[in-house]
Amino acid sequence: MTLPRGFKANAEREAVRLRNEMGLPPNAPISIHVLAEHLGIAVVSGEQLGALEALEELERMQAYAFSAATFHVKGKNYVVTNPLRTAGRLASDVAHEVAHLLLRHELTEIREVGGIPFRTCMPEQEEQATAMGGTLLLPRPLLMTAVSRGMNPSQIADAYGVTNEMARFRYNTTGVVKQLSRRG
Ligand SMILES: [Zn+2]
Repeated sequence: MTLPRGFKANAEREAVRLRNEMGLPPNAPISIHVLAEHLGIAVVSGEQLGALEALEELERMQAYAFSAATFHVKGKNYVVTNPLRTAGRLASDVAHEVAHLLLRHELTEIREVGGIPFRTCMPEQEEQATAMGGTLLLPRPLLMTAVSRGMNPSQIADAYGVTNEMARFRYNTTGVVKQLSRRG
């Protein structure tokens, strides 16, 4: 599957625009929780909803089945997160949901797994939300700064509270390393 033409550039612009709105420079690290709050999105742990037991059961049945889900209740968006996740995974999960909301993806379907309903979108929208979520957490200007300081993906993951997987993905797909080595 491929992203629509111009999607990546738009995501980069959006990541910088949101930082600007929050009074942050383009290369600033961002707490996804602070960004969610800025956008009026409430992030709630499944634990707070008394769903922990159900989530543990779900995790046993189908590992990683539930990452996070967005609910629209009385005019407000709630992202419900899985308390069993590591901090880095949580950041990716919340960023993915925030991206769905920013991209105004329609909730197409509510699936229920282990008694917990959660939204799913069309596969191409899932790919877009993941790509945009990664861009929000690690936009190009931030990566340029990190890579010019000699940081590798695992150091980037540690420094910015994201998963190694995400740091590596952004490191490898943004062309930042090539761009910096061209500068000499
Ligand atoms: Zn999704």
